[in-house]
Order: sequence, then structure tokens, then C-alpha cells
Amino acid sequence: NGSLTCIGTGITLAGQITTLSKNYLEQAERVFGILPDKLSEDWVKSINPSYKSLQYLYAEGKSRRQTYQDMTEVVCQSVREGNKVVLALYGHPGIFACVGHFAIERLKTEGYPAQMLPGVSADACLYADLGIDPGTTGCQAYEATQFLFSGVPLNTSAYTILWQIGLAGEHTLKTLKTTQENLKATVRILNKWYPLQHEMILYEAPFIPVQKPRIDTFMLKELPQIDISTISTLVIPPLTGLKLDKGALDEFGLDISDFG
Ligand code: SAM
Repeated sequence: NGSLTCIGTGITLAGQITTLSKNYLEQAERVFGILPDKLSEDWVKSINPSYKSLQYLYAEGKSRRQTYQDMTEVVCQSVREGNKVVLALYGHPGIFACVGHFAIERLKTEGYPAQMLPGVSADACLYADLGIDPGTTGCQAYEATQFLFSGVPLNTSAYTILWQIGLAGEHTLKTLKTTQENLKATVRILNKWYPLQHEMILYEAPFIPVQKPRIDTFMLKELPQIDISTISTLVIPPLTGLKLDKGALDEFGLDISDFG
């Protein structure tokens, strides 16, 4: 009987997969994957030789929406054929990654067992490498283009994480890079919330254990000059931390002086 388990292989090769996910990977009858490079693919293949990459479904000029539907269908079809399938995605399989979610939803409506196991995501690496605890001020995260196009307000007392900054403003869904013009527009939008001198960080976790993370600090106005890739994540530290609010404390019968 067919089933699906979506696992995350983590970001850094070989060391960041959970023991549980590795067990599923070893025992799968079919493994499909979207992994960042050949080394990771070879490593997954060494654990389960049935591994097949889904990267071939990407094509320049083809909408990514269609690519994700095609990937979902390949995975679901293998489950329908009766296979115990593992879908291996890098990082966490359900964070800024839709194919696992799509496949699980589709298979469940068709009555097949389907589950997702958590993995080590890029932001999990980021908290460790940058020494940030998202609990100190709170943290908001957006897909960069969705943030830029939606006009939502930012909470500048919290950390802001913009995923896929390398695709900022890319609305065609047909190419995998942004432009200087888009980055200049990004600066104008972020400047509604942060001064042009505000320091931010471009972060890239290493895919290979011997590499060091990329941690580049620069000012908001310099963003269009920064070398940004498809694996870059933008981290914007808060302008202010959390402050006590008198009206909120009133609700608890407390006063600012109660906090020394
Ligand atoms: N599922 C992945 C995870 O759990 O980290 C995220 C995949 S999402 C499609 C791609 C985005 O994740 C990139 O644009 C970037 O924001 C972030 N990302 C992926 N690899 C990264 C890395 N090595 N370092 C920093 N951010 C990374």
C-alpha cells in the first residue's frame, strides 16, 4: 500500500538530517528529491539508490507554479502505484517549500497515508550562526516578493527575515533572479520602515560542513550593490526592542514601576 513521508535533509550536508528522517529514507521504496547540489544528491543516493531528482521539471520560461504541480503529480503517482515514497527536500520540507504540502493534501483526500517530518531549516541555521534568539524581541518572516507586493506593515521592534531576497520583485515566476531595479524598489519600500543607514545582514548557511556561513553586514541603501544569490536570506535587526506599554499593563493591574 502506497504512502508518503516528506523529510528534510537539513542545510549542511549529511549532518543535519534527523535520525527518524534517515530511517524513513533508508526504508523507502522510491525516493524523490529537490536538493541544492550534486553532493547532497550523491549522499542521499548512497543511502537509498532509488533516489530520483525532480529538478528536471524546472525549465527557464516555464512557470514555477506549473513546475510545482508537475512535481506534486510525479510524487503522488508513485504513491498511487503502491510505493512507500519519501520526498526529500533540503532544509525543513514544509518551510517556504510547497511541493510537500501539496502532495500530502492531495494524497490525504485520495485516502493515502501521508505525513511530514520536521527538518533543520535555513532560519534554524541562521539563529545559531548569527547568535540571534527570536524570542528576545519577536521575529517576523516573509517571502520577499510577497512582502514587497502586499504593502503589509513591518513591526520594527522585532527581527525581520526576508526569504528569497534573490527573487525580490520577480513576478513572472519564470526566472530565478532579481534585478538592480527591483532591489532599488526594495530599498524604497524598506525605507518606509528603516533609515537608509540601518544595518542589515545577508546570510547564507553552508551546504558543505567545511565551508563557513556567509554573513555580510551592510546598510539598507547599499542593498542594490550586494551580490545576492538564490540561497541568500536577508535579516533585518530591530530598530527598537520591545517596550512596556502602560495601557497593556493596566489590563493586568500592573504599573511600569513594578518592573524596577
Ligand atoms: N525549505 C528550505 C528551508 O527549510 O530552509 C527553504 C527553501 S526556499 C524555496 C529557498 C530560500 O530559503 C532561499 O531563497 C533563502 O531565503 C533560504 N535558504 C535556502 N538555503 C539557504 C542557505 N544555505 N542559507 C540561507 N538561506 C537559505
